[in-house]
Amino acid sequence: MDRGPFTLTTLGTGAALPARGRYPTSQILDVHGMLHLIDCGEGTQERMRGAGISFQRIAHVHISHMHGDHYLGLMGLISSMHLMGRRKELFVHGPKELKEVVDIQLRASGTYLRYPLRFRSLPHVNGHVVHADEHVTVTTLALKHRIPCTGFLFKESVGLRGLRREQLHRIPQFKRAAVKAGHDLEFPDGARIPNAELTLDPESPRSYAYCSDTAYEPDLVPHLEGVDLLYHEATFTEAMAGRAKETYHSTAADAARIAAAAGVGRLLLGHFSSRYKSPDPLLTEALGIFPRTVLSHEGGVFPVRTRDGA
Ligand SMILES: [Zn+2]
Repeated sequence: MDRGPFTLTTLGTGAALPARGRYPTSQILDVHGMLHLIDCGEGTQERMRGAGISFQRIAHVHISHMHGDHYLGLMGLISSMHLMGRRKELFVHGPKELKEVVDIQLRASGTYLRYPLRFRSLPHVNGHVVHADEHVTVTTLALKHRIPCTGFLFKESVGLRGLRREQLHRIPQFKRAAVKAGHDLEFPDGARIPNAELTLDPESPRSYAYCSDTAYEPDLVPHLEGVDLLYHEATFTEAMAGRAKETYHSTAADAARIAAAAGVGRLLLGHFSSRYKSPDPLLTEALGIFPRTVLSHEGGVFPVRTRDGA
């Protein structure tokens, strides 16, 4: 059955300080062709160019918090969209301070955007609906960081029921939408064919959770239960657990403990401290606790799959 994409591209996987070959955090989630940009560190535009991602297809930008490595690329992107003639509105979801920062820069440069910039400030709570459309619902995750920091949970909407190929001839064209929506097929003479005879269950919806930046936060577990792909920051290894605590970051083992407790499908690590030339020690540490762990990398593409592999 045809099914739209639900695919994550990691554009930047570094932490606050620059490291050779790594960029600050930014990701693109392609939901049935609509692009959600998640955080926008410096260099995001160049990384998108490198990955062949069109700026104008971005409909929503989600900014987790006001540390520079998560948003300093945003102003450049907003300007480029303007210069490239964007007319379509852009939604930016982020801390309320972000609006002030963007407004002051637009004012200082005398820029009047050609497109509507719709700003929505995020409360620091779990489960606030950021956006919902026919394909996806985005809600907030209350992360635990030095300043208010919000994660995002993307849940695909349940699709329509599939029509059984061998039954198609029994379903008049004008009744197909109702049958896909779960209704029985009724005829004027009172005859009725139960929906189950005509349709297959819809495919299970896919889900993606983004948790960066955060200290170890077990309160997140109930909100992450059964998520298909969990991105969790892993700034340090356990040898640096003290530093992780001090800076409200997680170790790779912390990330794996959250993944294991929530029973997620796959764990994706990122936000690596520049002290690790290679993120392999972080992977090794997490694998010891949660075997379905992978590393993110610049330009990495991760199609989100449900547990049954769909
Ligand atoms: Zn931070």
